[in-house]
Amino acid sequence: MHTLAERFVLTDALSQNQPDARSSPSSSRTVKTFRGTLARLGIGGIEDLLFELPLRYEDETRLVPIGALVGGQTGMIQATIELTDVRYAPRRQLVCRVSDGTGFLNLRFFHFQSSQREALQRGNLIRAFGTRREGQLGPEFIHPRYQVFRTEPLPPLRDRLTPVYTKRKGMGSRRFARLVETALAFLRKGELELIDRIPRELTDNWTQSTLLDALENIHQPPPEASTEQLSEWLTPFRQRLALEELLAHALSLRKIRSEWIAARSYPLTIELSELDHFIASLPWPLTSAQFRVWQEIARDLERPIPMLRLLQGDVGSGKTVLAALTAFVTVRNQGQAAVMAPTELLVNQHARTFHEWLSPHGVPVRSLHARLTRKGRREVLQELASGLPCVVLGTQSLFQGDVEFPKLMSIIIDEQHRFGVEQRLHLSDKGPQRPHQLIMTATPIPRTLAMSLYAGLDQSRIDELPPGRIPVTTVALPEIRRAELVTRLRSLCQSGQQVFWVCPRVEDTEGSNGRAVETAFGELRAACPDLRLGMIHGRMESTDRQRIIEDFQCSRLDILVATTIIEVGVDIPRANVMVIDGAERLGLLQLHQLRGRIGRGTQGGQCLLIYGPLSPEARARLDILRKTTDGFVIAERDLEIRGPGEVWGTRQSGGLAFRIADLFRDRELLARIPNAVQLLEVAYPESVEPLIHRWLGANLRYGQA
Ligand code: ADP
Ligand code: MG
Repeated sequence: MHTLAERFVLTDALSQNQPDARSSPSSSRTVKTFRGTLARLGIGGIEDLLFELPLRYEDETRLVPIGALVGGQTGMIQATIELTDVRYAPRRQLVCRVSDGTGFLNLRFFHFQSSQREALQRGNLIRAFGTRREGQLGPEFIHPRYQVFRTEPLPPLRDRLTPVYTKRKGMGSRRFARLVETALAFLRKGELELIDRIPRELTDNWTQSTLLDALENIHQPPPEASTEQLSEWLTPFRQRLALEELLAHALSLRKIRSEWIAARSYPLTIELSELDHFIASLPWPLTSAQFRVWQEIARDLERPIPMLRLLQGDVGSGKTVLAALTAFVTVRNQGQAAVMAPTELLVNQHARTFHEWLSPHGVPVRSLHARLTRKGRREVLQELASGLPCVVLGTQSLFQGDVEFPKLMSIIIDEQHRFGVEQRLHLSDKGPQRPHQLIMTATPIPRTLAMSLYAGLDQSRIDELPPGRIPVTTVALPEIRRAELVTRLRSLCQSGQQVFWVCPRVEDTEGSNGRAVETAFGELRAACPDLRLGMIHGRMESTDRQRIIEDFQCSRLDILVATTIIEVGVDIPRANVMVIDGAERLGLLQLHQLRGRIGRGTQGGQCLLIYGPLSPEARARLDILRKTTDGFVIAERDLEIRGPGEVWGTRQSGGLAFRIADLFRDRELLARIPNAVQLLEVAYPESVEPLIHRWLGANLRYGQA
């Protein structure tokens, strides 16, 4: 008897040094066609296809009686059409009322064609997949996916859960799912092959799953894995892939490190009296955590090998000053320091802070922001190219195209939590010698896990908040108390407070909760004509956005209505109240990041969460947020309460860029990584590159751009 694993000889279809799959001429032609299709769609190959994992699943394998569907629940109903009508309420819309004997439901469409209206005829049967909301006319699905049937019997339901993939240009999730299905079928028949890169000694004692098993079950879970048990069912398969992914990350960091430190750097001289003078000029004394971390950084800077250090610290812990100290020392050594931030907003904010702190000491601060005129930009580029010792700030565009830094001695990367570290490390290969590199992140990862994951990096941690912080109080309010909240805010603003009003929703869809930014802005303006309101969102010109932020910063606005664009890093200590409008839509870590924008001054901040109908998980999320402000506690609890549908989690909750691994759920796995790395490097060095490529290939290519 062959075991499952042995029947599939797993050979990597991508790597050149492997013999190609030998198969019958007819089938190889289909495989060839398939490869051609992938190429045409811009998918690099079978690995690029199969390692793009579903975001979540939808269960179309069973029907839910309408009467059993609770608010917020998603499911497939089967019912008879009772009435279809075009209404104007106030927008033109198609409303189709259906019932299945246990209850009725309205299907509402804002975009529809007349053929659609005709098909939705009274008496026809319909299957519709959607999420139940409470509308003005009763329970409803908005824009559900549906199929109409004129006669019975109806076709059988699907026999696998439906995977949902990230939308790509020109290709919907369904199309992608069909490609994956085809690839898996070829693998099963042995017409395509994929090497299992994980040595037996690593998998044997903890999982029975082979690579192909894992991929099949992750892409197409059988209905036994009903959505309630999905998470549990998928565990062995998920772990099988998570091990690979974590291993690939760790291996790539090790590789980057060994290449990095093989080069020389600039040993910087630190003049203590100058430095003390600079530190004394800051608006506050350093906390002891900041001081300890600075000493760790300073030791690296003085050495002739390039620093490669990760600085972790919760939101508001005071990481910026360490970037400033690093920059100060660099410029004092006649070098250039580049500070990279993920958004234009942050670049401008840092530019202001750095200016304030560094200019009085004769350290030039430049920034390559979007508002620069062509001429202004050229001037900055010329200064940089001439080797002017200075600090320069920018987004990732700093390391693209026309920017030259002949004296680049240090690179500081801020707010790394949205990207993989590897990506950034690859950006910095400029200059004759290697610059020092400091990466700052607010992702709360427990220390032990960080040690395994970032094995290639030296690590520092700020584990103390600046003194005098009073924790933010957080209050959750149901939708119906909105008016009361607005009245309260109005009096707060009249007494001089400033308020962030954050709207996670991008657009208004009638009948659902939480306001989109423009709607909220309009309502507030009508309700508070005496207050000064501003609004920012991602579709605005960056110059307009910046002007409004500045107005808010200088207290020329009372309320700033914004999308989650302000999530990352924005520091306006005077704004001490935050409303999150439709808080149930956000993940815990994202809520934590947002809330981190307030409570930075010395007065207690207030965070007010407006919520619509809550699923049990959403209720738990808001509850945790009310009880703690500690990022580590929040990350732990986040893991515990994730709903069964949210299989991957981290990606959605603003964590690191993993496809399947979850640093909290997979912590036991993570603990095995150091040994696994060693085993691979020593006994299977030929697998190192292919594994990195399989999981990080696209990212690294992007990074080198
Ligand atoms: P992070 O980037 O880690 O989220 P910031 O560097 O933006 O945090 O600092 C958060 C706030 O705390 C800022 O308003 C900053 O001025 C203030 N701050 C930083 N360090 C100290 C300190 N040692 N004492 C008092 N306030 C500080
Ligand atoms: Mg910051």
